[in-house]
This record gives sequence, structure tokens and C-alpha cells, in this order.
Amino acid sequence: MDSPVRAFGAVGGTPPFIAHAEGAYITDVDGNRYIDYVQSWGATLFGHACPEIVQVAIDAARLGSSYGAPTELEVKLAELIIEAMPSIAMLRLVSSGTEAAMSAVRLARGFTGRELILKFEGCYHGHSDALLARGAGSGVATLGIPGSPGVTEGAAKDTLTVPYNDLEAARAVFKGLGERIACVIVEPVAANMGVVPPEPGFLEGLRELCSTWGALLVFDEVITGFRVAHGGAQALYGVTPDLTVLGKIMGGGFAGGAFGGRRDVMEHLAPIGPVYQAGTLSGNPVAVAAGIMALELARERDPYAALAKVGQELADGLTAALTAAGIPVTVNRAESMFSPFFTDGPVRNYADARSADHERYARFFHHMLDRGIYLPPSGFELWSLSTMHGPEEIERTLEAAASFRD
Ligand SMILES: *Cc1c(COP(=O)(O)O)cnc(C)c1O
Repeated sequence: MDSPVRAFGAVGGTPPFIAHAEGAYITDVDGNRYIDYVQSWGATLFGHACPEIVQVAIDAARLGSSYGAPTELEVKLAELIIEAMPSIAMLRLVSSGTEAAMSAVRLARGFTGRELILKFEGCYHGHSDALLARGAGSGVATLGIPGSPGVTEGAAKDTLTVPYNDLEAARAVFKGLGERIACVIVEPVAANMGVVPPEPGFLEGLRELCSTWGALLVFDEVITGFRVAHGGAQALYGVTPDLTVLGKIMGGGFAGGAFGGRRDVMEHLAPIGPVYQAGTLSGNPVAVAAGIMALELARERDPYAALAKVGQELADGLTAALTAAGIPVTVNRAESMFSPFFTDGPVRNYADARSADHERYARFFHHMLDRGIYLPPSGFELWSLSTMHGPEEIERTLEAAASFRD
């Protein structure tokens, strides 16, 4: 298993090994076909093996898979991202969300000359040392370990963590240490503790705190970018970050990531500035070609209203089906992003998410898997929709959910 989230550690059993996938469906090596709500953890907005994306990737590979030299395609992808997210004046392409978040934090530290970073319990920003320190999101939450062995105290001690949606706690941290904080990094819709939308005023409050204290606000839009809206969560909520971290959808299902933002900040990156960051496969032509097609499709097809409607139908349908069966459930949703928590209370932070009944989720997961529905194998994960999830898939999913008894 090359990533722990793929194991069925939280739900038990052996994961199916996937042979191929198309649209909303994956098929395992035994020929079982499932409606897929993992969608490469959100990377495939247009479904698996989207013909347009496959074609440009094949064409690009024929021209050479990597040069280690600049290409016009990189400029085109950058322009598509900047067009969607006006807060980004300059950006750099990398190969994963982890790399993008790690580099954004280094840049924030280099730009401000400060050491501390503030993150939120249950938010995941990739597995770099500083960002894996303490309470770091789904993979870690699922495994039930606080940080990770192998992260040194030195790397962890500069990372401060407060509960998500707790502006007062963030304010208190700034009161004590504000002049030493380089950046606040946040998932503008948390999706790695299950989906937890920001409460009104939370993102705005972080924006104000950062501006007051001279810290940078970093939105990790690796999941929300090109998913909640073409312009990401920053467009949806109308809050402008200093830096944005991207991945998943913008790679078109290939290894792609990016970080970017204010010009004066980005100009601190080498070669213009002193903050070092590099990558042999950064801006890889195959990934970039796929990313360009994904973002062009996103712009031309404007699938966001339809996606949100599917998200709402599924979220409402799940609530109705499970409630009718006497099973308490809270389905959190922001546009097309949603996930159910088996609890009867609200879920507004990581402590709430943890207190849901995750053993019941495990039983629900297997109930659905047996009926050909492949859900994320953990109650701390988002259900990812693609544009290929239509009425038939919704109906089959809700029908399967309705027969769950526990
Ligand atoms: C997936 C994810 C990352 C890490 O991206 P990788 O490409 O897996 O390294 C970072 N931040 C968020 C919010 C994510 O969901």
C-alpha cells in the first residue's frame, strides 16, 4: 500500500486492487465494479479516464515526458490558474500538494523572517515534518496517533495548533506570539477530518488577524480549488489569502501541485529571491497538459452548480435514509463536498469529528461496498464527486444506504 489512507485500517478487510476505471466507476482485478466516491481522493473532477484528458496526456508523452527546461505549457497552466484565482499574481508548479504546502510555509518564513506557523487540528497539509506535527488530519487521525514518529521535536515545536472554527483560540495565540508567527495555514473547507465547513466569520477573522500581525494567510486549496467553485473557496467565501496551495484537480489526475500568491511574496523565491525551492519533475509536461485540459473543461463546462446539486441530493438523501432507519447522522456539506458523521450533534471541529461513531461508519462502509459502492475507507474523509456521478449513481447509492440497519 503506497499511501496509508488506501489501506482498510479504519474499516477492516482487504482493499480491492483496481484494474481500471472509467467515469464514476472503478473495477477491481476480480471484475467487481463499484461507483467510486474516492475519485483518487478528489483529483479526478471529470471522472476516471476522461477522454479529453487521456488524449492530451498521450500526445504530451509522445513529445517527451520531461525536459528539465521551461515549456510554454507551464505558462499556459499558470495563466489558467491565475485567471481563476485573482489573489495569485505569480505561481510555481510542483509535483504534489505536500510539496506545495511545504514550500509555501518555507516561503512564508523566508518572507517574514519569522519561525512559527499556526495550523488547525484535523487539517491536513501533506506530510512534511512541520505540517505533520500534532493533530494532522485524516491519515494520522485514522491511525489514532498524535503526530508521527520521525518528526523531530525541533520541527514540531514551531508549529502551533488550535481547533478549527475557533477564532478565539487563534486570537489568543496571536496575542501571546503574534510577532513570531510567519503564517496561518488552513483548509478553507476542512476535508481531512470529514467535511467541516468554516463557520461565518472564521476565515474573515483569520484574514484580519494575519493582516494585523503581519503574518501571511495561506489557504490550502488542494481539495477545494476547482471543486467548490472555479475560483476555489476564496471565491466562494470572498476571503483573499496571501498564498494559495493547490494540487489534486489541477494535475488532471497526474502528479501536479502549485503554490502562488502575492507578487512581493513570490519574488522572495529563487531565482529572483533567496528562498530555495526546486524540483526535477516540477511542471512535468504530461501532468501540465492534463492539468490544462482539466482547467479548460472546468472553465468551459462550468460544472459547479450541477455538482453542488448532486452533493445536496446525496447529502439530503443520506440524512433521510439513515434517519428513517433510526440511525443518528450529521451530514456536513459545502457545495459538492460532503461527508456523513454518525452522531446526532453538530460537527464543527476535530474533537466533534472524533466523537462520531467510526465503528458504525466501518459497518456502513462494508454494507455499501457489498452493494457496489466504494466510499472513502474512513469516516474522516470527504466523499468526492465527479461530473460523471449522475441520477443513476445517486439512486443506486441512496438505495444501498436505505437498507443499512445497525
Ligand atoms: C491531499 C492533500 C494534500 C497533500 O497533497 P498530496 O498531493 O497528497 O501530497 C495537502 N492538503 C490537502 C488539503 C489535501 O487534501
